[in-house]
Parts: sequence; structure tokens; C-alpha cells
Amino acid sequence: MSYKVQGQRIVILGGGEEALNKVRLVTKTTASVVIISRHIDAAFTGFPVELIQRAFAPSDLDNAALLFVAEQGPDADLAKAEARSRGIPLNVVDVPAECDFYTPSIVDRAPLTVAISTEGDAPVLARLVRARIEAMLSPRIGKIAGLAGRLRKAAESLIHDGAARRRFYEALVTSPEIEAAESKGQGLDAAEALLAQHANGRTQGVVWLIGAGPGSEDLLTLRAQRLLQEADVIVHDQLVPGVVVDMGRRDAERIDVGKAKGHHSFSQAQINTLIVRLALQGKRVARLKSGDPMVFGRAGEEIAALRKAGIAYQIVPGISSALAAAADTATPVTLRKVSSGFVTATAHGADDGDLAHWASLAQAGLTLALYMGKSIAPDVAARLVAHGARADLPVGIVVNAGRSTMTTYSGCLQSLIDCQATFSDGPAIIFVGEAVGAGDWADAAQLAGMSFKVA
Ligand code: SAH
Repeated sequence: MSYKVQGQRIVILGGGEEALNKVRLVTKTTASVVIISRHIDAAFTGFPVELIQRAFAPSDLDNAALLFVAEQGPDADLAKAEARSRGIPLNVVDVPAECDFYTPSIVDRAPLTVAISTEGDAPVLARLVRARIEAMLSPRIGKIAGLAGRLRKAAESLIHDGAARRRFYEALVTSPEIEAAESKGQGLDAAEALLAQHANGRTQGVVWLIGAGPGSEDLLTLRAQRLLQEADVIVHDQLVPGVVVDMGRRDAERIDVGKAKGHHSFSQAQINTLIVRLALQGKRVARLKSGDPMVFGRAGEEIAALRKAGIAYQIVPGISSALAAAADTATPVTLRKVSSGFVTATAHGADDGDLAHWASLAQAGLTLALYMGKSIAPDVAARLVAHGARADLPVGIVVNAGRSTMTTYSGCLQSLIDCQATFSDGPAIIFVGEAVGAGDWADAAQLAGMSFKVA
């Protein structure tokens, strides 16, 4: 509930830090704020409040909308009783049982307010949630909400279709261009120009190539999450788990272009055609890819198709699975005096030239992070050794990196060659190199019973 306090008083009984905390909150309203206490200790200077240093008197509650009690003693008891008899909503700081209402944590982007309440149970949690929401909402979003209010009448008369109007408002409150214009004080001009475009039906589709990260909702970037909320269509790969796709706008259309192996799936050419077609219809397309879109994501082909069709696009980076795997296993893929770099490569389709090259890099101390190699892992290990990599070079395999189902295997190139293990289901990263020995692989299944020679 939002409570109207304009033209009334908010009374705070107490002169200490707790009273000051309430002052910070309630001076954001249009009420006049009155502090009453025999002892005024906290620094209220700078806040638009009236300080009254004396005992509480019942008439202090005349024309009061709310009472906060932030001290204990006879004044507090009298004030509480008086508020109750007058039916004035009461908040007793830190005593939920005596409260008629709680003050939520708020994110203040007036006229937009987000309130977070734990009903007094866990204010610390409310503050943490608040910090996250603060990070999500641009500081200028309130100003932009104000623009939407000012243009509401014009939008109604210029755009008759409800869905089209919604698209205009969404573009207004999410467009990076409007935000930039607003920061220069030109928000209204830019918003009017945007309205004119939408009224003429000249809206442009856009494609966002978004990195979904390794497959957990909380390893998505804030920007990815924001754009998923704005998309009309989400075109995703099979490797992106449902929980991540579900971060998208509820009524966005979802297209899975990479059905599981063996089932019908879209060819890359069909995907390129699909995203171009959707954007040409004026839709905002979130092309959601696992990990980072620029790493083994065939982003190059999609970008080329978008360029050719003259469609606007934007790339949003994601956490690539090798980095999630490094984090899961506390493996520093670069390590002073051990590994001067790391190489991401695809094991799938690698030829002997590639293998020879990687073997020499691994011998030189670099860490290999091999994608798409799970089913051919022993073969890849054998070829690396054949090309000169030491058979006792540490190997670590992470299946389902960054997910709750993560499992790991460790050993060395020779033990991987001898490996009889079947790996658990899911995508995997194979690390090879001296630095792998510095990770936490203690609970990993040992490949063929061999363990690391730690550097
Ligand atoms: N763009 C993605 C890679 C896509 S290629 C990225 O940056 O991560 C597909 C390969 O990525 C899989 O064969 C596997 O090697 C790797 N992969 C994707 N998700 C993974 C995960 N959660 N754990 C381990 N490997 C993963």
C-alpha cells in the first residue's frame, strides 16, 4: 500500500540514530516531519524537519498521518496509547508485534518506487534485495518514467493500437538513446521523436546476441536480464536451460532452434533467415546463446546476415563455460611462473595441425581449455601426447560448469587415454596444462585412478 501523507504531519518520537533512519525515509515524502524527544542526540541538520525538545504531549498527534516511536520510556508508552486511541497508524522501531505497518526498504526513482518488505522478519535481506534492484534500475529511470507520463495523452491520440502503444512505452523506458538524451537535458525532445517514429509505424526491429552464461540464472549479466525482459521473441539454443530462458519476458514468443540431438533442429542458415525475418517485422529479438556469444557461438555468421539485411544489432557478453569451469574448480588458468596464457579451442573437428600446435602450447606452459570434446576426450589426449605433450600433464574435466549439477574428473593425459570412465550427462570443458594442478580437484573422480602431480 502507498499511503497519502501530503498536507499532514509525520511524527517521530525519539532523538537518536533510529529516529534519524526514519527521517531519511520519511523526508522523501511531502509530509511535514516533526521530531519530538527530551534528548535530541543525532545529527538532524540538513533534513527538513521540525525539532521539538520536550516531553510528548497528546496534541502532538493533531493532524498526524503516521507515528514512529523510536525510543522507550513513559513518553513512548503515552504516544503509543494516544496513537491507538486516535486510530493513527503506528510503527514501533524494532518491535514488529507492536507495529500497525512496516516501512519497506525502498528503491527511490520517483515517480517510480520499488518497496521491499520482509514484514519485519529480516531487514538485512530486504537491504540486500534492494541493492540488487538498485543496480538494475538506471538512476535516470525516474526522469524517463516522468516523460512517459507527460506523453501519455499524445501517445493515446497518435497510436491507437494497444500493443503498438505498449511497444512505444517499452522503447521509451528502455532505449539507451533516450537515457543518453535525458542525461543532457534533451529527454523530452528525444521522447517526442521516438513517439513520432512509432506513430508512423517506422519502428525498426533489432537483434540482441546475448550470452546466457553457463546455465544458471544468477550467472546472467544484468544487461542480458534487462534485454530478455524487453524482447518480443527469444530465439535460444538447446544448451540454454529453461530456467535461464524463463528470465525473459513472460509473454515473449520462444523459439528453440537447437532441439536435442537426433530431433529436428534448425540449420545455421535457417537461424540466420529466422532472426532477419523477425527483425524485419519490427520485433526485438533476443538471440540467446550459451556462454559467450562470440566464443564458438557462430555469432560471426549471424552478424554477417544482420549486416547484410541492414538490421541493428547489439552483442551482450556472457560468461564463457571455460571461465565458469575455472571458477568452479578454483583453477587459475593463468598462473605466474607456471602458465603465461590460456587457449580456448574446439576439440570437435580439430586436425593434426591443430593438435600439434596445442601440444606445443601446453608444453610451453599454456593452459588449454577444450570445448566440444567430451565424447572424443581420450582420442584428443592420445593425439596431444603423440604430438609431444608430456603424458603426465594434468587434465581436469568439468561437466555442467556453473550449474548445480556440476561434476569433475581429474588426472593426466595418460590417465585420460586409459580412461574407462563414462562422464556424466551434459556439456564439458577439458583443461590440459600444468596450472590445472593448482585447482581444487580434491573431490573429483580420478581418471583411471591417477592423480595430479601438483606443480
Ligand atoms: N558459447 C559457448 C560455447 C558453445 S559451444 C561458451 O562460451 O561457453 C558448446 C560447448 O560449450 C560444449 O560442447 C561444451 O564444451 C561447452 N559448454 C557449454 N556450456 C557448458 C557448461 N555449462 N559446462 C561445461 N561446458 C559447457
